[in-house]
Amino acid sequence: MQTTTAAPPADLIPDSRVGWKQKGTMLALTIIPFVAFVAAVALLWNTAVGWTDLGLLVVLYVFCGFGITIGFHRMLTHSAFEAVKPLKAGLLIFGSMAVQGSAITWAVDHRTHHAHSDKEGDPHSPHHGFGGGLGGQLRGLAHAHMGWMFSHPAGQERERMARDLSQDRLVRFIDRTFVLWAVLGFVLPFALGFALTGTWRGALTGLLWGGLVRLFLNHHVTWSVNSICHYFGRRPFPAYDLSTNNWLLALPSLGESWHHNHHVFPTSAFHGLGKMQLDASGLMIRAWEKMGWVTQVRRPTSDQILRKLGRGD
Ligand SMILES: [Zn+2]
Ligand SMILES: [Zn+2]
Repeated sequence: MQTTTAAPPADLIPDSRVGWKQKGTMLALTIIPFVAFVAAVALLWNTAVGWTDLGLLVVLYVFCGFGITIGFHRMLTHSAFEAVKPLKAGLLIFGSMAVQGSAITWAVDHRTHHAHSDKEGDPHSPHHGFGGGLGGQLRGLAHAHMGWMFSHPAGQERERMARDLSQDRLVRFIDRTFVLWAVLGFVLPFALGFALTGTWRGALTGLLWGGLVRLFLNHHVTWSVNSICHYFGRRPFPAYDLSTNNWLLALPSLGESWHHNHHVFPTSAFHGLGKMQLDASGLMIRAWEKMGWVTQVRRPTSDQILRKLGRGD
């Protein structure tokens, strides 16, 4: 576990250029799903939750989760594969429904993270400028988990970091219409809840579980990759940044918690590299590859892996 007591780098100091619009939006997006989560648990405590609600939660969690992990992250940010247009559009739409910023903004912030990983300029490193001791470590983790979104202007350096994405008409369209898809992330579970139960109560509990609770879980699992997976876990590849592989988060993160592997092989479509490293997103990409829906799938060879482990020639 490494920390530094150096003065905070300029980019990690709360930035006054972040407007109230971004701060207010972030505040609403973090508090409302949390309140909904507490309310949903309270409801669950009093009356058994319906199978329809749980089904909506699981299905939309997985669809929106894959939208982020496969769509925004592996496909858009790292060009780990090419997808046929309808699949590409679907992934980007479900990624937008996870309400973590528009497609290009997300990719820009994440490319910035890789470009400066755990160094000055990394928007969400838990390791820089938070002082020593337990307090400093907790402040660093809180910053990496959520705090950075209140202090880092979203999608900074869009021109320089994502020119390739801005030139893609489909990506540009879904990026510009982000708010529409974000709203769809709530309208869809509401409509499905109504369609499946035929009652307004079913529509409202569908919105609660499939919309807000799902958003709460999607958010915190993604954010855990930024915080926990740069702090707790194993680092099998020597001489890299402070990213980690964390098996506990493998299932909920749909494979993203093999985050150290990912930092070593950022363009790989697969983050789980061993047979025991469950990577649901990677399994999905492999299935789509077999069906011919994705092509040019990038994967490291075993020689490349051994060399990075320091065991090759
Ligand atoms: Zn990382
Ligand atoms: Zn990445």
